Amino acid sequence: MIKLGFDIGGTTVKAGAVDEEYRIIRKLARPTPKCDGAALCLLIADMARELANGDEISALGITVPGSVDKEGRIVAAVNLGLFDFPIREKMEKLTSVNEVIVRNDADAAGEAELALGALKGVNTGLILTIGTGVGGCLVLGGRLFHGGLDRGTELGHAMLDRGGMLCGCGHRGCIETLCSATAIRRLAEAACREEDGMIRELAEKGREVDAKLLIDCAIAGDGEALRLFDEYTDALADAIASFVNILDPEVIVLGGGVSGAGDFILDPLRKKVPEKCFFGSCGKILAAEAGNDAGVIGSLI
Ligand SMILES: [Zn+2]
Repeated sequence: MIKLGFDIGGTTVKAGAVDEEYRIIRKLARPTPKCDGAALCLLIADMARELANGDEISALGITVPGSVDKEGRIVAAVNLGLFDFPIREKMEKLTSVNEVIVRNDADAAGEAELALGALKGVNTGLILTIGTGVGGCLVLGGRLFHGGLDRGTELGHAMLDRGGMLCGCGHRGCIETLCSATAIRRLAEAACREEDGMIRELAEKGREVDAKLLIDCAIAGDGEALRLFDEYTDALADAIASFVNILDPEVIVLGGGVSGAGDFILDPLRKKVPEKCFFGSCGKILAAEAGNDAGVIGSLI
């Protein structure tokens, strides 16, 4: 018997076969089909067959970058282009697995961090997952808070910039528009158009223009990349400071691909967030320990 976890991202479907201690023993990744629920379900079923490698599947966990209801239905996943989609029901039919769990990605990351990582033993905490979009969840009383009406919390769609850029959710100026990896990519694209520097130089040599390119150039000490990265961490620190003022958390955890930059992103936040907070100080700012695997593991916990 084997458990399989799937982390459906806006760009990539990451999957893993997990042992009893929630260690990943086999991994797979494929590009995410966009705006096509049927194609996504078929892809998950294919990947499940490959990962199970003949073993019987005891549980299938699926994390989704969007809101999910109690019936395992995707209410809205803007970055997947899926709305009101019964993914659990479809996967039960396609795979004949009895236990199919569907979770919001930030909730899954929160479960993984609570059980095994940076939120272990924490009473009041906050996690922000930064990828194509920005997800987040709250830990209150040592447990994940699923929202008063059980629809979860959408921290990435709290407003940061009134009248700002249009967000995928249809509103303007959400945290996601300025703090996601997509926002960093946008800064890198502008630098390619407007600036003579390392970002443009590497892009012309064929490097993909994405968040990692800007962060790599900043780590290498390129002035323009450092300035843009500083602009980014400033916006992210503003967002975190607002949550600190509401919640006064013991621990703030940063997850998602961008958190892979480690202290290079955490140290500026550790300096800037307290400066922007009402109390002039805040709880610990840590990287998610389950890292990029949080969605895969947390879908099953
Ligand atoms: Zn939004």
